[in-house]
Parts: sequence; C-alpha cells; structure tokens
Amino acid sequence: MTRPSSDQPAGGADREPSQPAAPTAPGDEAPPGTPGTGETVCRGCGGSGRKDGATCPECDGSGLVTVGIGGA
Ligand SMILES: [Zn+2]
Repeated sequence: MTRPSSDQPAGGADREPSQPAAPTAPGDEAPPGTPGTGETVCRGCGGSGRKDGATCPECDGSGLVTVGIGGA
C-alpha cells in the first residue's frame, strides 16, 4: 500500500470553491487527483459501469469512483 507523506502541498495554494473540469460522477467523494483519495471499484455496479440495464448512476458508467482513503 502507498500512503502520501503529506496531505497538502507546502506552497499554500488556495483551494478554489469551484470544481476543476475533471469529470466526476455522483458516487465520487472528491475530484480525481485530490490528495488522500483514490479510485475504487464502484459499489453500485461492481465495476461494470452498468446497473439495471442502464448506465450506473453512481459512477456515470466508468465503473470507478473516487473516494477518500485512509485517515479520518
Ligand atoms: Zn457504478
């Protein structure tokens, strides 16, 4: 397993209130690339990206969701 050595960069950059253009799904807990998060198989569809014969609403068909890992 890998763990980030720190949860924030030392640059002191402000967090923007609006989300970046990176695609996110309703099941995501954070945008991709957020420190302390990682992609995991969607619990709604088990990674198939489909549920009940339609695109999975939790991962938006990607089969993966971004969730917080470790800590808190
Ligand atoms: Zn899904």
